[in-house]
Amino acid sequence: MEKETQTAPYVVTLSGSDASGNAGLQADNRAIHAMGGFPLNVVTALTLQTESGVQSIDTTAPELIRMHLFGLLNSHPVKVIKAGMLGNAEIVGVVVEALRQYPSIKLVLDPVLQATSGRPLLDEGGINAMLTDLLPMTYLLTPNLPELARLTGLAEPFSNEMEQMAAEQLLQCNCKAVLVKGGHRTGDLATDRLYQTSGVSDYRVPRIETTNTRGSGCALASLIAACLAKGKSLEEAVSDYKAVLSASMRRTAGIGNGTAFL
Ligand code: PLP
Repeated sequence: MEKETQTAPYVVTLSGSDASGNAGLQADNRAIHAMGGFPLNVVTALTLQTESGVQSIDTTAPELIRMHLFGLLNSHPVKVIKAGMLGNAEIVGVVVEALRQYPSIKLVLDPVLQATSGRPLLDEGGINAMLTDLLPMTYLLTPNLPELARLTGLAEPFSNEMEQMAAEQLLQCNCKAVLVKGGHRTGDLATDRLYQTSGVSDYRVPRIETTNTRGSGCALASLIAACLAKGKSLEEAVSDYKAVLSASMRRTAGIGNGTAFL
C-alpha cells in the first residue's frame, strides 16, 4: 500500500530578530506555533531594542537572504510566506525574485515601516520597491492606519470613505486583499477591516486596554499565515486569529514587559 505523505504546515518568515523577544521573528514563531504551523525563518536583520528604543540594527546581506530563502523553498513544500521587516529595496527584490519562481506561494505582507519608537525599519527605496514590485504579488497586506497613510500618501485621520479610498488604491496595485488593523482606531472597538475587490468585511473585537502592544502586528500576520498554511480560506484565517490574539493580549496586559503575544 502506498504510504500517504503528509507535510507540516510550513510558513517561511522573513523578519528581523528582536533580541528582546517582543516583536519580529520571535513573535512570529510564537504565533505560528500557537496556530499549529511550523515556522522556517529567514532572518532579515539583527536588532537590539530596549525600553529606551532601538539600540542597533544590522541588516542581513541580500545574497545571504537569497541563499537562505531559496534553500528553504527548494527543500520544503511551502505554501505561505510571511514577510515583516525587510529593511531595504535589495531585500524586497529578493522576495520578488522568489515569488516569481514560486508563483503559487501566498505572501502575507506586514508592511513594517518603523519600530514603535519611530526608527525606520524599511528605507525609502524599500518602500518604493514594495509599492511597485511586491504589492502586485501580495495575497494579503496588513497595514495599520499610519502605514496605510504612508503607503498611499493620504493623510490621517481617515474617515470611513477615505480609508476605503486608501485601501482601494492598494487593491488597484493588484494586491489581492488588504486588512486594515484596528489597533489605532479610537473608541471601544478595535475593528479590523478586510478589503477585497469583492467587498468589505468588518471583524469587530472589544479594545483591550494595554500598553503591551509590541509585536502585535507581527503576531497577527503570522497567525493568519499559519491558518492559510493549514489550508483555511482567507476569511476563515482572519476570523480565527482574532480570538487567539485577543486572549494573548488580555494575558499579557498585566505583565508589563511590552510584548503583546505570549
Ligand atoms: N519587526 C521587527 C524586527 C521589529 O523590531 C518590529 C518593531 O519594533 C516590528 C517588526 C514591528 O512590530 P509590531 O508588530 O509591533 O508592529
